[in-house]
Parts: sequence; structure tokens; C-alpha cells
Amino acid sequence: MAQQSPHFNDFGLDSRLIRALGHLGFDTPTEIQQKAIPVVLAGHDLMASSQTGSGKTLAFLLPALHRLLKTRALSKRDPRALILAPTRELAKQVFGQLRSLTSGSGLDIALLLGGENFNDQLKALRKSPDVIVATPGRLANHLDSRSLMLNGLELLILDEADRMLDLGFAPQLEQIHQAADHRRRQTLMFSATLDHAEADDMAARLLKTPKRVAVGAANAEHQDIAQRFLLCDHLDHKQAQLMHLLGHEDYQQAIIFTATRADTERLAALLQEQGQTAAALHGDMSQAERNRIMDAFARGQQRLLITTDLASRGLDLLQVSLVVNFDLPKQAEEYVHRIGRTGRAGASGAAVSLVGPKDWDAFKRIERFLQQDIAFAAIEGLEGKFKGIRPRAAKADAKGKAKPRPAGKGKPGHTPVNKPAKPAHSRAERFSGPGLGTDDGMAPMRRKKPGGE
Ligand code: AMP
Repeated sequence: MAQQSPHFNDFGLDSRLIRALGHLGFDTPTEIQQKAIPVVLAGHDLMASSQTGSGKTLAFLLPALHRLLKTRALSKRDPRALILAPTRELAKQVFGQLRSLTSGSGLDIALLLGGENFNDQLKALRKSPDVIVATPGRLANHLDSRSLMLNGLELLILDEADRMLDLGFAPQLEQIHQAADHRRRQTLMFSATLDHAEADDMAARLLKTPKRVAVGAANAEHQDIAQRFLLCDHLDHKQAQLMHLLGHEDYQQAIIFTATRADTERLAALLQEQGQTAAALHGDMSQAERNRIMDAFARGQQRLLITTDLASRGLDLLQVSLVVNFDLPKQAEEYVHRIGRTGRAGASGAAVSLVGPKDWDAFKRIERFLQQDIAFAAIEGLEGKFKGIRPRAAKADAKGKAKPRPAGKGKPGHTPVNKPAKPAHSRAERFSGPGLGTDDGMAPMRRKKPGGE
């Protein structure tokens, strides 16, 4: 007998939540939702890792709201649930999903973001909201000014916990943990990557005998994202490749990641000169300006967003079908977050990374992190001279050994980006066996064998 596909009804969630899910058009839970929701409903603390775009926000919101709707508050004055997110953009997005689930439920909600008016937030807090979404710094400010008490908190939820720690929020998380001291508090830690020593330490302090749920390793190949890597010689070459990609790829909206804030501005101006609708987004901008740009992009008013890692996490923009790494991120796991801005909720997307001499170390880190042999694609007529940097040990070796080489080497100028990178000559094939050619121009990728390079 064919197995029935799982349905949100199976969890026994409050009917108001089922109705809200109906409005959103969701009936089948994603994998992380199937695994996490029963654990949270059973009252356990949870440490969960799940790939970006996998539906983790609802995986914590649904069981958390169920608890709030079904049980009496521990305190009339204090918030019942607090959700912390590392960036203002991500917090706003979580808040959006929270709002659609709670409208008409009788639960009051509030959003407390750094960079926004403190007095407006005080007013919102005076209404004793049941659920608060906040960035940790601002929440800690409210604790300091005693505009908020957390003794009655029933649910503490950390979204992108590893990122909060990377951003230096450990003291604020500790302060919030100390302030939310009810013995019946349930704590959930979610992230795309929980493989993080500091996050493990934090979990050991904050969570009580947590259950662990992992869906897809952070470095597992993302099935819905076609990834390609192109070698480049210098900035002008990168720009020429970028222009070619934007002119030839099939995409609705694209995000272009650069290493520096100045570069976001420069590239945005360059693209605007070429008649593209492009906007820069970076951390030097005021919060109002960031909001305006994100809203315009989310509404499709700009086709291109040029940004730094500020926008690499959490943002859920379903129209983004192309991500270009104009520069590679310094940290390999950031690569996974950046490309996760596309291929959301089962849609397919493409991620193209430009690898120049300055990106080489970052490229090797990504290759190690993904445990994959990455071969290079090339754009016909825009191939460069740079072929990668040989590892020092290999230099001393016999000639021609272990030299990184792009796909298509041996026939320069003849590897169009949308054709398979000549498999018979690809580095990946030489080292990992046959059958790696792809038909989408994507660099063939393979999980490395243990003990490999
Ligand atoms: P998240 O990983 O929480 O950022 O979610 C990624 C996207 O998946 C968002 O657009 C959600 O609205 C969407 N989503 C979450 N759960 C489901 C579901 N069960 N069915 C379809 N889409 C979903």
C-alpha cells in the first residue's frame, strides 16, 4: 500500500494554526518540521540543524505557538515566548511568519530591533506582548533598562544561534538566559549550521537534556542549487564575467555578494550605468535605508541586490534564482548560507562563484568544507590565465602533478558556461572516476572519499 504523505493535521496542532497554515497554502510539513515539531510538542529542549530554506522557522513557530494557545501563561506580565535572531533582516522575516500564524489567535506580538526607536518599543512592551522577536543586543538593552522582565518566559528560541555567537552576542545570550529563569522554560536552538564548538558550549548551558535533530549536513550538496565556479584573473575580468552572466543567465532576481561595503556601492553604480535596476545593501547604511532597500527588492522593484554577508543568512526571497559570489566569503560555511538565498522551498536556483587569485585560499576552504572536488566551468571568450595556485608541497613534486586546473583546459576558449565542462578532461574525473559530466554547465561536484586530498 502506498504510504500517505504527512500532513500538518497529524501533529494535533491547535485548529487556529491549521487554519493559518491553510491560508498560507501549506499542508505537507518539510523534513525538519516533521522531525522537530513532535519533539517540541512533547516538551523537550531541542538543538536542531537544518539547511537554509528548509522551513525551520515554522518548525519552531508552530509547536511554540501551540503551547501558548493550549496552556495558561506562567505570568500575566512577562512575555511567554522570545525568539532571538542575529540580524534585523532575519528577525523581521521571522516576525512576518509569526504574524501570519497569530492573526486572529488573540496572541499579541512585538518586534524589538536594534537601530529602531526605543520609545516606540517601550510602548509596545507596555501592552505585555505574548511573543517577542528581537535581536539580542536590543533585547539586552531592554533588560538593562528594566522595561522588560523575563521571569515568566516559557519558550526561549535562538534562531541562527551560531551566527549570533560569531557576531559576539554570547554575553547578551547569557544575560537573557539568566533573566529567563523559570524552571519550566523550554529552550530551542536552531541554525543552518550547529557544527560549532561555541554553540555546543552554549547549548550545554542553556538547554536541558536536549533532543538533537539534524536534517542534511550543512555541507551536504544542495539538490536545488546548480553551483558553478569560474576562474578569473583580476577585477576587470570579474566584472566582465559578471556582466556576461547577468546578460545570459535565466533568472528573476539575483543577489551579488562582494567582500567589502565599498564594492557593493561601486558595483551597484556600474550596473545602474548599464541600465540594470540594482541596489547596494550594506552595514554602513541606516536601518531605515536598509529596510527601504530590502522592501523594494522583496517587491521586485530592483532586479539585482549587491551586498556583503549582511544578507547571506535567513533572507527568504523566493524570486531570487541566481546568486553570484563576486568575491568568495572568508568563512566556508558562509558560502552555504549565501547560495541558500536561492533554491528556496523546492524552487531551483543557480550559484556562480568567481575565483580570482585573492579568493584562492577561500576557495580551498570551501572545497574542504563541502568535501567535494570542484572543477571549474568557463565562459567562452572570457577564459582567463589564472589556473589556481599550486600547493607548496606540490611545487616541489614532479612537474604536472596535483595542479589545480579548470574544466576545459587543453582546449582553451571552448567551454561555454551552459555546456558540460569537458568531462574527459575534468580534474574531478581524473581524481574521482568517470561519470561526472553535468548537462547544466555546472562544475561537476563529488563528495571526497575519506582520506582524500
Ligand atoms: P525557512 O527555512 O524557515 O526560511 O523557510 C523557507 C521557505 O519555505 C519560506 O518561504 C517558508 O514560507 C516556506 N515553507 C516553510 N514550510 C513550508 C511547507 N511546509 N510547505 C511549503 N513551504 C514552506
